[in-house]
Amino acid sequence: MNVLQFTDSGIYCPAGDFYIDPWKPVTKAVITHAHSDHARPGNQQYLCHEHSVPLLQLRLGQDITVQGVKYGETTLINGVQVQFYPAGHMIGSAQIKVTVGGQSWVVSGDYKTENDGISEAFEPVKCHVFITESTFGLPIYTGHHNNNSFRISANGAQPICAPEKTVCCWLIVLAKHNAFFTT
Ligand SMILES: [Zn+2]
Repeated sequence: MNVLQFTDSGIYCPAGDFYIDPWKPVTKAVITHAHSDHARPGNQQYLCHEHSVPLLQLRLGQDITVQGVKYGETTLINGVQVQFYPAGHMIGSAQIKVTVGGQSWVVSGDYKTENDGISEAFEPVKCHVFITESTFGLPIYTGHHNNNSFRISANGAQPICAPEKTVCCWLIVLAKHNAFFTT
C-alpha cells in the first residue's frame, strides 16, 4: 500500500486527501517549512508547525487559512494520522510522518542533522518509508559540515576570506536556504 504518491500537484496522500508541500494549489496542504519552494500560495487550507504560522502569514497573506501544531502532536486528516517532527533546517521546519493502516511514511522536507542552536534539532523518526529531500546532493555542491567549512560552487561564491572569523550568511532568507560559514 502506498501511503503517499507523487502526482502533478505534489506528494499526495490518497487516504487523507491532502498534499505535502504541493507545487500547485490544492484543498489541503501540509507544509514542512516556510521557504517559498515548499510553502506556496493558493492553497485553501494549510497545516504546519506552530512556529511556521506567522511566517506563512507574512509570506502568503494574513487571510490564509492556517493551523499550527506542535512537534509530536497527532492531527487527523480524514482519519489519517499526521505528525510533525523537528527537521533542524529552520525555525518551524518539520519532517511529516503520515500513518495509514499501521504503515508510517516520513517526508523529510529540507533537513540538517547538525544542531544550529536556532532551529529545533533534527530528530530521527522510525518509519517504514523515508522520502528524503536532496537539494544539496547534486555534485555541483560541496560541503564539509563536520568541520564547519562549506563552499558553494554553483555560483562561484567563495566567502572564506577572514581566518578565525565566523561569517554568517543568510542565503535568500525565507526563500530557499540559510547556512553558516566559518573560516
Ligand atoms: Zn528550505
